Amino acid sequence: MNNAPALAYIALGANLGDPQAMVRNAIAALDALPDTRLIRASSLYRTEPVGLKAQPDFINAVAAIRTTLAPQDLLCELQNLEATHGRVRSIPNAPRTLDLDILLYADQVINTPTLTLPHPRMRLRAFVLAPLAEIAPKLQIPGRGSLAAWLPAVANQRILRLP
Ligand code: ADP
Ligand code: MG
Repeated sequence: MNNAPALAYIALGANLGDPQAMVRNAIAALDALPDTRLIRASSLYRTEPVGLKAQPDFINAVAAIRTTLAPQDLLCELQNLEATHGRVRSIPNAPRTLDLDILLYADQVINTPTLTLPHPRMRLRAFVLAPLAEIAPKLQIPGRGSLAAWLPAVANQRILRLP
């Protein structure tokens, strides 16, 4: 059973191999998911790794999609994409060829063992908030107020928007 069409925001990150190509390909792959269309994609951003520092910089971006997949089904599709792009899970915050997170799914608030929405750590991460603000500057976060209000708190994090 499919849901009504919902606007969802996906965070993309990669830091192994050719991460720019990986993120561009993944954005295209979002548009090819079942029952899903790409609406908008941010620029690519280069960011320093969080946590484990001795690893390559990350390339990050955010995409807006419209989908009739239910949130949990969308998560499964994203995990399939991560797998087909060769991600190997090792330790937390380890280098990865591709990480795909659901930031928001319409105005849904979800707390299950496998899916938390809005994404619990997005508020702390310039590499999520900056590309998100680029494509949705007026965004409201369900239950949490405006995205714009979160930006000053991450202004000290180094992040470079690529041309
Ligand atoms: P992280 O993205 O935090 O670096 P992973 O990509 O390995 O870590 O994800 C770990 C787990 O997070 C996944 O197995 C998934 O079930 C869970 N998860 C919870 N909420 C979300 C969300 N909003 N988007 C993506 N994964 C989520
Ligand atoms: Mg993830």
